[in-house]
Amino acid sequence: VVEFVDVARSFPGPPTVHALRASNLTIRSGEYLSIVGPSGSGKSTMLNLLGLLDRPTSGDYFLDGANTNVLSEDERAHLRGSSIGFVFQSFHLLPNRTVLDNVLLGTMYSGLPRAEREPRALAALDRVNLSHRLDFLPGNLSGGERQRVAVARAVVTSPRILLADEPTGNLDVLNSGEVMDLFDELHAEGLTLVVITHDTAVAGRAERTVRIVNGSLNEEAE
Ligand code: ATP
Ligand code: MG
Repeated sequence: VVEFVDVARSFPGPPTVHALRASNLTIRSGEYLSIVGPSGSGKSTMLNLLGLLDRPTSGDYFLDGANTNVLSEDERAHLRGSSIGFVFQSFHLLPNRTVLDNVLLGTMYSGLPRAEREPRALAALDRVNLSHRLDFLPGNLSGGERQRVAVARAVVTSPRILLADEPTGNLDVLNSGEVMDLFDELHAEGLTLVVITHDTAVAGRAERTVRIVNGSLNEEAE
């Protein structure tokens, strides 16, 4: 489903930062991959490329066989809205909007017909067991509940890939466990998951782990 061919990303300096060096990576449809590595090694850079939030400096990124490099910004935004879900460490929920509204916002660039959006949002919130919190504001939820809202928002459009950058970074062990269990379930349902994490317990849930050191990818030995 995902194929990186000699993908590199550098940031012009001075000094020039080679955040990701020429990298090859294939992620199968339905695979659960974790990405680990030290701070500053290029993990978020990699995820931003995967999520079409950024373009490589060189190399090609194929998504479902199509070279994403040749797409216009509009085409990339459409593909992102329909195919890719994001979850971040700091939840990125709007504090003044209810749980339901936050999830509805996830449908905004999806191209879904208006009439389908609320039923989808309600189903996504049911999926993460938060149907009893629809009218709550994020500030009144636990950390684990907030991250589950973020997961509901990420999967409301039924994306092909879920990308998560340190999804348990702000959570205690119990809440981390909740989010990891949810990822396991989504994986069992066929979603492709790519999770960046510092937490070895989280990385251990994935089928495969890739380590990034100084911008270079290395497959973890079993
Ligand atoms: P962390 O675990 O701390 O989140 P990371 O592995 O996600 O680290 P990246 O954010 O991918 O690291 O950054 C990789 C390198 O690229 C770092 O040296 C960083 O300073 C640099 N970098 C990232 N974004 C930019 C940017 N927009 N401009 C210049 N340099 C950048
Ligand atoms: Mg990062």
